[in-house]
Amino acid sequence: MLRAKVRELARDYRKANAPLTPERLAKGIGASFEIAPIPTDGMFDFDRGRILIAEGQSLKRQRFTLAHEVMHYLIRHDENLLSDMHEEYAGDEFEETLEALCNLGAAEMLLPSENVKATLAKKGLRAKLIPDLAETHQVSEEVAAIALTDQAAHVLAVIAGGRPLKVLFSSRSEFFPARPAKNAEVPKDHALALTLATGLPFQGEAPLPKHQRPFLLDAYAKGGRVYGIYRTKPN
Ligand SMILES: [Zn+2]
Repeated sequence: MLRAKVRELARDYRKANAPLTPERLAKGIGASFEIAPIPTDGMFDFDRGRILIAEGQSLKRQRFTLAHEVMHYLIRHDENLLSDMHEEYAGDEFEETLEALCNLGAAEMLLPSENVKATLAKKGLRAKLIPDLAETHQVSEEVAAIALTDQAAHVLAVIAGGRPLKVLFSSRSEFFPARPAKNAEVPKDHALALTLATGLPFQGEAPLPKHQRPFLLDAYAKGGRVYGIYRTKPN
């Protein structure tokens, strides 16, 4: 329910403000934006109507962060949605849900779910779709991962990279029971690390990095990064 409402909010915003250039993204809520040296990806200075975006990230990533901050504003100003959220969640859980919903809305703004559905119908949910969708639709890989996990239940998408290999981002759909910590190191003998080292796609069982419980994993490496789609095992 909440997710459907957030998607609709984002879709209406996209339609009202298309094409969503960074300027138009911010202007739709009467805000401006600035690239600045801040410790988090993005911040909303509500008093000044100004969105701050962290410097040193790719333009696509900055656009995603901007859309995420715009979603904070839209949700904050939607009383019905807010009261629904407060009814269901409190404390840390509320904060975590809010962040996930802002990510979901940002993805819907930049990568319409109709497009994702069409791709999934043709190709099925595979890890390779994370970099492929990002490339085809000129969005960040985070956006692609969020959009893909939004279309399926019981899945988790992971993007890992860097040296030592770490989890850079993860997005889980409803009902997937766990998630890796951000920046969790991927052990050298983990299927994700081996996929990256060999360049060979992997399909089989593997736990999340630093976890025990095995899931089904589809992994794919490209350009120094490795992408994974985890699913719960059928009982
Ligand atoms: Zn946020």
